Amino acid sequence: MSRAAARHLGSCHCGTVRFAITSDFPELTQCDCSLCKRRSATMVEVHESAFELLAGAESLSEYQFHTHTARHYFCKVCGIYPFHRKRVTPDFFGINIACLENFDPRGIPLRQAVGAAMP
Ligand SMILES: [Zn+2]
Repeated sequence: MSRAAARHLGSCHCGTVRFAITSDFPELTQCDCSLCKRRSATMVEVHESAFELLAGAESLSEYQFHTHTARHYFCKVCGIYPFHRKRVTPDFFGINIACLENFDPRGIPLRQAVGAAMP
């Protein structure tokens, strides 16, 4: 079951970081790497051309670990993780779906990504 592509607005908790994505949501992912396990987010992957940062660039804190390829962003004010640039496919963003407004994930397949097993 696939959806029509739609634009969704998203934000961190305090609203400093605001963004929009356009996706047809073919799947959602959860990941078992050491970071994702701790932040426990369900994500959707979008190409950078389908991602718009609307506000808050100066309030993003960046965290990198391991290979320092993926770029994990956090709001400096409220600490929420809204999105990250992916490691294997750095022109893609992983988006925290809990930050999307009026988004209903029901019916979208959930895939378990294997981050912990990556070298
Ligand atoms: Zn915030």
